[in-house]
Amino acid sequence: MPKFIVDCLRYLWAAPNTVLGLLFASLLMLTGARMQQVEGVLEVSGGWLASRLARYSGFAAITFGHVVLGYSAHALQQLRVHEHTHVRQAECWGLFFIPAYLLAGLWQLLRGRHVYHDHPFEKAAVAAECRHFKRLPQAVITNGQ
Ligand SMILES: [Zn+2]
Repeated sequence: MPKFIVDCLRYLWAAPNTVLGLLFASLLMLTGARMQQVEGVLEVSGGWLASRLARYSGFAAITFGHVVLGYSAHALQQLRVHEHTHVRQAECWGLFFIPAYLLAGLWQLLRGRHVYHDHPFEKAAVAAECRHFKRLPQAVITNGQ
């Protein structure tokens, strides 16, 4: 199958998540955020709302399909490998990504495990960071989603 067709299918399959990301991105943009395109992913960061979310919730970055939202451009740069791993997961799971993500987190809670650190999607993203930065999993700062 031609690469162009495969790429279109990846974007279409992840589109429900991307639409949600675009809605949140619009909110950030209305409060002064900036956007850039990196490797086929729309990254939106900064602005009043993102800084408030960071201050009061510890928000660093979150991925919805092909949209990554971050509290700053610097945070997005540091978390790019992690968040783009979530983009690949969204391309794989498509419409089912968010329910699968939430159910996997719930499953960890029900098993008495940590909802974030034991989450299989997060562990895969942290593993990608470790491979990319050539460091051990314990050394990774996991403040991304
Ligand atoms: Zn994550």
